[in-house]
Amino acid sequence: MNILVINSGSSSIKYKLFKMPEERVISQGIIEHIGEKGSKIKNHYLGLKLILEKVNKVSCVGHRVVHGGERFRQPVIINSKVLRDIKSCLGLAPLHNPANLAGILACQKLLPGIPGVAVFDTAFHQTLKDYVYIYGLPYKYYKALGVRRYGFHGTSHEYVARRAAEILRKPFRKLRIITCHLGNGASITAIKFGKSVDTSMGFTPLEGLVMGTRCGDIDPAAIFYIMRRKKIGLKRMEDILNRHSGLLGISGISNDMRLIEREARRENKRARLAQKIFIYRIRKYIGAYTAILGGVDALVFTAGIGENQANVRRVIVRGLFSHLKKKPKVLVIHTDEELMIAQEAYLLMKRRLK
Ligand code: ADP
Repeated sequence: MNILVINSGSSSIKYKLFKMPEERVISQGIIEHIGEKGSKIKNHYLGLKLILEKVNKVSCVGHRVVHGGERFRQPVIINSKVLRDIKSCLGLAPLHNPANLAGILACQKLLPGIPGVAVFDTAFHQTLKDYVYIYGLPYKYYKALGVRRYGFHGTSHEYVARRAAEILRKPFRKLRIITCHLGNGASITAIKFGKSVDTSMGFTPLEGLVMGTRCGDIDPAAIFYIMRRKKIGLKRMEDILNRHSGLLGISGISNDMRLIEREARRENKRARLAQKIFIYRIRKYIGAYTAILGGVDALVFTAGIGENQANVRRVIVRGLFSHLKKKPKVLVIHTDEELMIAQEAYLLMKRRLK
């Protein structure tokens, strides 16, 4: 069975065609500059049309959807009710979900009758307890607006945690695992006996770690202060926090950790500072999660920085578990969100055919 996995972003669509259950990649690629000035690819429909010229015999399409709100705890086959529910989550992730939805709608038009499966970044974290996901705000904002911690990168955290269990030859449901997804976007998750119990991203992917261009945890009063003092409007401030902060904002050099590391080695002070802040925040989260898990069996690093930057990993773990009698295994595991989406879609298809 050929499963096409689509990761539809605001101006790009990544795709990967898998032969399942062999998990063989038949083809893959990316269509970029969708809807941008001067681009021939005006919308997602035209982008997908190009992709479908390159792939054939698609039996099912697996879609990455960033935000599933509280409605989706697991992957689902897309029908009209699911589509309505995904639409109702649009406001929760205005930077991501509209593009995901555009990808789904384009596939429905271009591949009529071919089933689609939605896999949500938030689903794995739906096991968080209320005292973990409720913010210290008036409760009515949770009830009326859905303002709570959701957590993201769920597909990646679950995938690498399950792989860790396989590598350690222990059942996933018997392990306490901390997974560090350190890419341009970055988050950490505490997984207890197969369930996400806490995660660093929150209502949006802005909370938690210092990231490539996102600020992570911050006193909200600092934001109001900057807006007042600099007479900055809401939209611009949102942009500063999402696109001009983090490693880029601190270093003034780049959001790319490879460049930051190179400059830090050349004694560039701000590059050094950016790297230190990035690492310190991760250590703080790992410490907190070790405490709430009551010990750790495995610490997993994944994504661009986590997989490739041994220096950063080394400084993160240095002395971190010296107080523990039983030290965790430290693993580096390549994340493969597309494969996980293909696996989930395949399982749902198989169940449907039974
Ligand atoms: P995302 O998918 O969130 O955009 P990635 O997982 O590709 O991000 O990670 C990008 C980050 O990983 C950058 O900071 C980059 O410097 C760092 N990185 C370090 N080594 C590599 C590598 N060999 N390949 C890709 N990214 C790397």
